Amino acid sequence: MSSFEQFGLDARILSAIHRMGYSEPTPIQKEAIPEVLRGGDVMGAAQTGTGKTAGFGLPLIQRILPKANTSMSPARHPVRALILAPTRELADQVAENLAQYAADTPLRTGVVFGGVDIRPQSDMLRRGVEILTATPGRLLDHIEQRATNLSQVEVVVLDEADRMLDMGFLPDISRILKLLPSNRQSLLFSATFSPEIKKLAKSFLKPNPKLIEVARENATAETVTQEVFQVSDRDKTDVLIDMLKTRGPDGGPLTQVLVFVNAKITCRRLARTLSRVGINADAIHGDKTQEERQAALEGFRSGAIHVLVATDVAARGLDIKELPCVINYDVPYSAEDYVHRIGRTGRAGAKGVTTMLATDSDGRLVEAIEKLTGQVFQPIPMKPMPRSQRYANRRHAYAERVDTPEDERLAQERARAYVPPSQRHLDPLFDMPYVERPQTAEKPSDAPSFFERRERKRPVAALLGGFVRKK
Ligand code: AMP
Repeated sequence: MSSFEQFGLDARILSAIHRMGYSEPTPIQKEAIPEVLRGGDVMGAAQTGTGKTAGFGLPLIQRILPKANTSMSPARHPVRALILAPTRELADQVAENLAQYAADTPLRTGVVFGGVDIRPQSDMLRRGVEILTATPGRLLDHIEQRATNLSQVEVVVLDEADRMLDMGFLPDISRILKLLPSNRQSLLFSATFSPEIKKLAKSFLKPNPKLIEVARENATAETVTQEVFQVSDRDKTDVLIDMLKTRGPDGGPLTQVLVFVNAKITCRRLARTLSRVGINADAIHGDKTQEERQAALEGFRSGAIHVLVATDVAARGLDIKELPCVINYDVPYSAEDYVHRIGRTGRAGAKGVTTMLATDSDGRLVEAIEKLTGQVFQPIPMKPMPRSQRYANRRHAYAERVDTPEDERLAQERARAYVPPSQRHLDPLFDMPYVERPQTAEKPSDAPSFFERRERKRPVAALLGGFVRKK
């Protein structure tokens, strides 16, 4: 007997759970499912990857199931459960899961998000949908066009609420919440509980919501090995390339890596640099169309793309199971983003490794992460591989194999098309020589780095009783 049966869920929901292959509820599901079934408000500290979607989705379906019907009339299918999510990727992912959980019931599920044609979404809303997942801006567009109304919502979920606030959705969320009946059930999920989140929770949840916290477990070294490499700005990309090429099984390339960067321009530039050195890489960032992002994601899922370079916003909600390795090419500006980023690996108890490349100027950001996650990193100084070794690898990688006459013809074609680097068109953004700005210039070799200064301070603290390591 599956332990999901302990919750008293409808047989049609249980059959979907079995089909999905879930045998055991995850920690957050064990806590959230009974509470949501009771009708209480929940404030959950849980990031994507903990199983939170089923944690709220399964009991939510159970609660509105008595009103499910097979009528063709749109009026019989009002929105009864509303899930707000920060990005199209997350909204899409959540909606897909909910559709699977509700597949054996007559409940209709749907999703609306921006960046795509609004009309098919309006048609879907006008036909009626009980479980609606939405990004806030596009939902308001639909409400203004009267494609839907929220007067019959019984359960509302704010998913990744911290991200929605970061992205400036607070005014939109407030407008949406005002349209909901006041006697609804409210659930809020967030990777961290910042003062802003607590304020939002206070204004929108009933007093004393049930607090559920599982994010910390996910963020500790229990399932994810976290390492920090201390690198110089100049060496950063080469160190990354070395890692990507040699840290896979048997010293070969890594084949499923998410590389996080802070800016869209770095994202584009890095993916391009990696492709140039023979690594199957693609970029996923906010300037790409929905189709391009989906294509990159599909390529990554199927294994055609080995390295996905992503910004935080674009990576929200990516559901990639048991990702073995996440690399922070840039130290995130906010410590919360670090928790989100490493939540991509070590899912559901699987072991993961996450590496962060930190330069001397990242010291304060690294300390903010240590403070938030209650740990102290021991940064490892890292240099790229010696040139001779790289060159040997490169020669091997570039050796052309000619097996058939067709291969021979293609090789000759490539040789004819070859243009020496000096004659190639220069892209001012990507191909101009890199000029170091004063603030990123290498420090003089005799000055201690941020991390060295920290090391020097340690023995003094040790004399005074040592550092207290937070749990
Ligand atoms: P989520 O945190 O909701 O994004 O879920 C992360 C992934 O875990 C999704 O692919 C889910 O399908 C999967 N998942 C959720 N609950 C369980 C479970 N009880 N057992 C196994 N996989 C699960």
